[in-house]
Amino acid sequence: MNYLIIGGGIAGTTTADELRKIDSDAAITIISNEKHPLYSRVILPHYITGKVPRERVFLKTTEWYTDNNIDLVFDEVVSLDTTTKTVTGSNSNYEYDKLLIAGGGIVNKLSFPGSEEILHFQTIDDADKILDLLVKHANDETKPRVGIIGGGFIAMEFAEFFGEENYETQIFLRKDRFFSGSFDDNCSQILENHLAKWQIKTHKHTEIESYVDGIAKLSDGTELELDAIAAGVGLSSNFQWAADAGIEVNKGIVCNEFLETNVPDVYTAGDCAEFFDTMSKQHVRIGNWMNALMQSRLLAKNMTGEKNAFELVSSYSTKVMGLDIVSIGVTNAAKADEIVERPSDDGHMLIFGKNGVAVGATLVNQTKERARITKLIKERTPISNI
Ligand SMILES: Cc1cc2nc3c(=O)[nH]c(=O)nc-3n(C[C@H](O)[C@H](O)[C@H](O)COP(=O)(O)OP(=O)(O)OC[C@H]3O[C@@H](n4cnc5c(N)ncnc54)[C@H](O)[C@@H]3O)c2cc1C
Repeated sequence: MNYLIIGGGIAGTTTADELRKIDSDAAITIISNEKHPLYSRVILPHYITGKVPRERVFLKTTEWYTDNNIDLVFDEVVSLDTTTKTVTGSNSNYEYDKLLIAGGGIVNKLSFPGSEEILHFQTIDDADKILDLLVKHANDETKPRVGIIGGGFIAMEFAEFFGEENYETQIFLRKDRFFSGSFDDNCSQILENHLAKWQIKTHKHTEIESYVDGIAKLSDGTELELDAIAAGVGLSSNFQWAADAGIEVNKGIVCNEFLETNVPDVYTAGDCAEFFDTMSKQHVRIGNWMNALMQSRLLAKNMTGEKNAFELVSSYSTKVMGLDIVSIGVTNAAKADEIVERPSDDGHMLIFGKNGVAVGATLVNQTKERARITKLIKERTPISNI
């Protein structure tokens, strides 16, 4: 059996690892367009803040691939032919019996004059660039001025780095809320007030139109001098080469609860999988480590003949200057039938209902509720009981 895996992140590498445990004779190849063995994106923020040395970000050594007879090839997949079962990369062609698409997400880039100077945060190479900026300004006598575009998890990582360094930081939101898909006004206001306490200013309904010679021109006409701009405006997984090959692609690679795509012998897992979630009974794309890890463990079994449905309540948490934000399960407010709000003195909680049951929750400064709410979701608690 010849297994080919596109993407060398946690989903692709874990699947390869599990496949090797099941089948000692199979040919297993991982194609990765990042020239590194597996590393943890989750640990990258701790590398930037100096809590973890660079070498500890890596989860596999190059020897691990050799020892397990897994071929790690650095190449960029550009097309796929599912009739001849051939993948074409920039450097070479690859054949497969079974194919896994575990390409994660491609960072959404902004396009305005000067946007090529913007810092992003998806890869270890991005982390090195952010670190360079922090080192460059380490001994500045005046506070560096920085802008952050976006209001989700990655934007909050930047807020944490710049806030910790006491930079003069401003955040630009295209609309009127942080975490626009999963927050309401109350959650957003708590975060905005919290950031303001750390002198981080939020501009709503504001976009940057250009960034030339250190001057950012805003959509309201204002001009600001900024030493750097960072952005966290989401990921896209609608790979054109997959769609061109006849694979159903929506926001991600569409698959059923067994992680099979519409094309035989082609599977998907991790951040790029838009899978049928048996709990909320809809297709969802979930971008967190636990989801990618557990999907790939299950998928290795499915690729070798079993047929197990994926079911998991996963979560993603972060801390922004001491404020906890947790996202559990499916937190797409636009797709929820009902949203239960639980305000408290120092935080806020939203529980999302779909088809009558709780399917997800957003917790702001309510981490103590995390285990209880996860259990309610796992048990498919009727939303009317909450
Ligand atoms: C800075 C940061 C912090 C995070 N913190 C957390 C956290 O605290 N908790 C949490 O749960 N999650 C966190 N996440 C999210 C988590 O890391 C992801 O959900 C997880 O890494 C997804 O794994 P994956 O294998 O599906 O995708 P990826 O890790 O994105 O791997 C996909 C790989 O495929 C490659 N690829 C794509 N297209 C091609 C192609 N055409 N040819 C070849 N290769 C290709 C990509 O370059 C990439 O290397 C964080 C992410 C980031 C960036």
